[in-house]
Amino acid sequence: MEFDTISAISTPMGEGAIAIVRLSGDDSLAIADRLYRSRDGRKLSDVASHTIHYGNIVDPKTDDVVEEVMVSVMKAPRTFTRENVVEINCHGGFVTVNKVLQLTLREGARLAEPGEFTKRAFLNGRIDLSQAEAVMDLIRAKTDRAMNVAIGQMEGRLSNQIRTLRQSILETLAQVEVNIDYPEYDDVEEMTHQLFKERADYVGGELDKLLRTSQQGKILRDGLSTVIVGRPNVGKSSLLNALVHENKAIVTDIPGTTRDVIEEYVNVRGVPLRLVDTAGIRETEDIVERIGVERSREYLKKADLILLVLNYSDDLTEEDEGLFEAVKGMDVIVIVNKTDLDPKIDMERVKELSANHQLVTTSLLKEEGIDELEQAIADLFFEGELEAQDLTYVSNSRHIALIEQALHHIEEVKEAIELNTPVDLIQIDFTRAWELLGEIIGDAVHESLIDQLFSQFCLGK
Ligand code: GDP
Ligand code: ZN
Repeated sequence: MEFDTISAISTPMGEGAIAIVRLSGDDSLAIADRLYRSRDGRKLSDVASHTIHYGNIVDPKTDDVVEEVMVSVMKAPRTFTRENVVEINCHGGFVTVNKVLQLTLREGARLAEPGEFTKRAFLNGRIDLSQAEAVMDLIRAKTDRAMNVAIGQMEGRLSNQIRTLRQSILETLAQVEVNIDYPEYDDVEEMTHQLFKERADYVGGELDKLLRTSQQGKILRDGLSTVIVGRPNVGKSSLLNALVHENKAIVTDIPGTTRDVIEEYVNVRGVPLRLVDTAGIRETEDIVERIGVERSREYLKKADLILLVLNYSDDLTEEDEGLFEAVKGMDVIVIVNKTDLDPKIDMERVKELSANHQLVTTSLLKEEGIDELEQAIADLFFEGELEAQDLTYVSNSRHIALIEQALHHIEEVKEAIELNTPVDLIQIDFTRAWELLGEIIGDAVHESLIDQLFSQFCLGK
């Protein structure tokens, strides 16, 4: 395939003083050469692939030195995009990096769209679709765990699992064709139903397992939307500050990503919390007061996690009881704050109300109980057993939708077998599941089932 040469600032994950201008495409080396001056006059187009060079970037119009740089040269095809790639490592601030980028654009590169390097890697056959999407998730990953999930997917864990399942379906379909074309047994229909049933059970079970990870996967990627509720003065702001300060707020310092000002991300023991509308809490102290009881209930229902704060040194009020009512059935952690003061709250009643929730006591003033609170959050999310590293999480909503649809067709297969439906009708659902799974890895667009059956099993000779 042929593409123009693209350029963009691609800052490495996390912090770091170095910023990179990355070029990809046929003209990468030529464009870089027009800007690059080495000590010994060597051109980048003449150097060996996968080598790094020290020199200056100059403005070719004036020959003024813009920046001292290290330039990596990676020639096609052994590169991420399978095109010629040049990475100009700048150590200056954003202004100089930007100047270098502008120069590459002036010399003929086009500004890359978000994710376009990854898109090229996909289009040039370097990675499959789910891997491409994983890279996009990686760019947006908000915690280490989320990053591990994305990396796992990028390494092809999900792709491999999907391929295995598709292969299993394909083999079944081939086997069925053989049974029908060359019946060795009297009751082909029953044999075939039996075969279909075994495979449908297996594939359905595996898809089900993948789906069960999807909720976790989505949360890891998007953050657990968390709302802090409580009467005025119980310590909501203090709690927010404690969470933000104890835990490194999650930085997304990738150029082009803007942070939503009304959300604050914190990473609590690997669980990304998206503290929703914290600005609201800060400004008006109380979301119930601010948006009214009815609306705040609706609002609360959308949250993944509620942190309900009570005051240890005050009576439990009707308003407190109302909050318990409003968050019924949700994931709630009850926090009884201000334990450094004289007790006044009816703890027996609090325990009663918290029967289905976790209960933690804190003194945010004295920084006590925060560890316990964090542990409670982690327990709630990981149920104390899940380790992101060991699992294939499905976190991409497109993948989830496709797996759900595929599973639906597998269920249809099972049902059809129960009803003794003719084999050719069952085949349709099985084939559809195979196609849907293929869309996850981007295969369905390229290959038809017939081609696969022919190439792998030499049917229909
Ligand atoms: P909010 O209205 O619910 O957001 O409550 P704030 O976080 O603004 O806290 C209200 C007041 O209670 C502030 O003066 C805090 O310093 C104080 N406060 C918060 N946590 C504690 C605590 O654990 N013990 C004591 N003694 N005071 C606290
Ligand atoms: Zn406050």
